[in-house]
Amino acid sequence: MVKLKAHYKGIPELSEEPGKKKKKPKLMAVVDEDNCTGCQVCVPFCPVDCIETVPTEKYDIPIPPVQIRFDECIGCQICARVCTKLTWDAIRMIPTAEFEETYNILIS
Ligand code: SF4
Ligand code: SF4
Repeated sequence: MVKLKAHYKGIPELSEEPGKKKKKPKLMAVVDEDNCTGCQVCVPFCPVDCIETVPTEKYDIPIPPVQIRFDECIGCQICARVCTKLTWDAIRMIPTAEFEETYNILIS
């Protein structure tokens, strides 16, 4: 039981109302779509509700992976923890500057 509790440490309760971004985050969550099972376990944990299913046109499969709406992400790391501890290991947290350079996306 103690081991189990330690395993789930850092995974918050689900929030009732999604919040909104207030400042530029230090980290960005990026889903490795090749590793994501599309289970959507991470989705309700996001405090700003910015995880969505990849449009079905991109993957012709019954359960597509998820993606992050980067402009709304606050870099809280909850999704990465949830994915690693409860399901798979498909989300990486990347420093925002590195993210902007790699993906040529400017985060405000
Ligand atoms: S919990 Fe992980 S595997 Fe499941 S949908 Fe989210 S990113 Fe994908
Ligand atoms: S790090 Fe994950 S859980 Fe946190 S705001 Fe970004 S997408 Fe949502």
